[in-house]
Amino acid sequence: MFSFAYQFSKPILWGWIFFIVLGSLSIWLANYWLGISTAIELRKISRERLSLYDATLLGELDKYRYLPFVLSGNEDVKELLTSFRRDPFFANKVSKYLAEMNNKAEANVLYIMDKKGSTLASSNWQDKTSFVGHNYSFRPYFQDAIEGREGRFFAIGTISGIPGFFMSHPVYEDSSIIGVAVVKVNLTPLQQQWNDGGENVFITDENSVIFLASKKDWLYKSLRRIPLEQLQKLQQIKQYGTSNFDILDINHVSVPGDLATEIEGRRYLETTQEIANTNWKIHYLVSINSITENQRTIVAIGIGVVVILLVLALFIRERRQKVISTRRALEAEKMEDMNRQLEIEIEERRRTEKELRAAQDGLVQAGKLAALGQMSAAIAYEINQPIAAIQNDVSNCVSYLKNQNDQQLNNSLNEISSLTEKMGMITAQLKNFARKSSMKTRPVDIVKAINRAGYLMQPVFNTQAVRLEINIASKTILVSGDEIRLEQVFVNLYRNAIDAMKTTQGEKVITINTSVTGQQVNVTVSDTGTGLEEHVVKKLYDPFFTTKLNSESLGLGLSITYGIIKDLKGEIQASNNPDGGACFVLSFPHYIEK
Ligand code: ADP
Repeated sequence: MFSFAYQFSKPILWGWIFFIVLGSLSIWLANYWLGISTAIELRKISRERLSLYDATLLGELDKYRYLPFVLSGNEDVKELLTSFRRDPFFANKVSKYLAEMNNKAEANVLYIMDKKGSTLASSNWQDKTSFVGHNYSFRPYFQDAIEGREGRFFAIGTISGIPGFFMSHPVYEDSSIIGVAVVKVNLTPLQQQWNDGGENVFITDENSVIFLASKKDWLYKSLRRIPLEQLQKLQQIKQYGTSNFDILDINHVSVPGDLATEIEGRRYLETTQEIANTNWKIHYLVSINSITENQRTIVAIGIGVVVILLVLALFIRERRQKVISTRRALEAEKMEDMNRQLEIEIEERRRTEKELRAAQDGLVQAGKLAALGQMSAAIAYEINQPIAAIQNDVSNCVSYLKNQNDQQLNNSLNEISSLTEKMGMITAQLKNFARKSSMKTRPVDIVKAINRAGYLMQPVFNTQAVRLEINIASKTILVSGDEIRLEQVFVNLYRNAIDAMKTTQGEKVITINTSVTGQQVNVTVSDTGTGLEEHVVKKLYDPFFTTKLNSESLGLGLSITYGIIKDLKGEIQASNNPDGGACFVLSFPHYIEK
C-alpha cells in the first residue's frame, strides 16, 4: 500500500483544496437539484392523487344526492307529515319503506322530520340507535331545508356517534313546506380506503377542523385556533360531538426548493384543493422521506466518488513518485558509474601525463645529447685551440724559465690561466646543459638565458661564421621558469638558424630582439637562412619531423622547444622574414617582482 505522509508543495496543496471544494460544491448542487426535482415530481403526483380523491368524494356524495328529493315526493311521506293523528303504524310503514330504499341505495340512514325537526320515520327505526322521536332542529341541514334550501352538513351523529354527511330536502305540500327528508351518508369506508392505501389524506371544514382523515388521531383536530364565538356555535350545533378541537401539532419548514409541513415530527409535502360547492378543503400529504432518502443516496454516492477520486489521485501520485524515485536512483547509479569512470579516466590521464612528461624529459635529454654530439666537433676544435696554445705557452715558459725571463714567463702563465679558465667555462656550460632540469620554476632572467645559450654556441658560431646580434629592451627581463630549460630553447633555435644558413650566401646573422609589452615578454629570433616552406610550417613542432638528412638531426629540437615554452605558459609562432629567413616569435608572461 502507500503512505499518506506526503510533503505537499504549495500548488499541489491548492490543487487538493480546489478539488475538495469543487467536489463538495458538486455534491451540494446535486443534493439541491435532486431535492427540487423530487419535490416537483411529488407535487405533480400529489395533485393527480388529490384530483382523484376529490372526484371520489364528490362521486360518493352525488350518488345519494337524489334520495332526499325522491323521498320528498313520496305520497306516504307527505301523508305522514300532514296527518294529525300521527298513526304509529303508518309511521312504521314509512320507516319500512325508508329501510328498503336505504338497503337498495346502500346509504347510511334515511329519515323524515316534521316542521319542528322531530324525526317521524327513519330507516333505522328498529335499531337501538333509531332516530325516530329525536329532534334535530338544531342541525343546520334542517334549518336550510325548512327555509326551502337543500342542506349539506357533516357531523357526528348525536345518537349513533357515527360521523356522516347529511343531505336534506324540503317536503312540499301545495307549495308549503311540511317537513324535511334527510339522507345520512357514512363516509367512514372512504377514510378506511385511504388508510388501507397507506395514504395521508384529510378534509377540513370552513373552521379548519379535520372531519375526515386517513389517520384517526387527526380527526376533529383543528389546523388553527378557533375563535371563541365560533367554538360556541360548533358546540351548539353538536357538529363534532364533544370534541375539544385540539390544535394539530403542525409546522412549516423549508426543504431544498420547497416548503414542507411537519406534523407530529414527521415531514410531508402538503398539497391542498378546494372541494367544489363546499367550504371544504382536501389535503394530501406525501412523506418527504423519498426526497431525503434520494438526497442521502446522492450525497453518499458523491462522497464515495470524491473519496475514490482522492484515493485514486493519491495512488497515481504515489506510483509517479515511485517511478520518479526509481528513475532518480537509476540516474544516481548511472552518475556514480560515470563518476567512477571519470575518476579512472582522470587517473589514466594523470598517469599518461606523467609518462608523457617523463618521455618529454627523456626527449629533452635526448635532444640535448644530440646537440652535444653535433656540437662535439666544434667543441673539440674550440678546446683544441687553447690546448695547442697552452702547449705552446708551456714550452715557451720552459725557455723563459731557463732564460730567467720573468716578465715573459709571467705573461705566458697568465695566458695559460685565462685559456684554462675559458675551457673550464665551456665544460661547465656543457655540464649544465646536459644536466636534467629540476622542473621547478622561479624568476629567471631571459636576457641571461639568451646570452648563455649564445655563449654555449659560440664555438659553432665561430666555425660557421655566424654573427649573433642581441638587442635587449632592458638589462634584466624576468619570466617565471627554469633557466636550463629556457637556455635549451635558445640553443635549439640558434642551432636550427645555423643549419638554415649553412647553404645561404651573404652575411649569416641571427638577430635577437626583446620587448616587454604590459604583462608580456616577447623575444624574436630571426635568421638570414632559407626560411620555412609552407609544408614545413604545418609540421614544425611534430616530434621527429626533420628535413635534414644528416644523422644528428633527430627532428626533436622544435617539439622539445614547444613543450618547454608551453610548460612556462608561453607561446611560439613561426613565420618568414619579408627579406628572407625564418623568424620565431616567443612570448612569456612577464614576472613582476612585488
Ligand atoms: P631538426 O633540427 O632535428 O631537423 P627541429 O625540430 O629542430 O629538428 O626542426 C624541424 C625542421 O624545421 C627542420 O628540419 C627544418 O626543416 C625546419 N627549421 C627549423 N628551424 C628553421 C630555421 N631557422 N630556418 C629554416 N628551417 C628551419
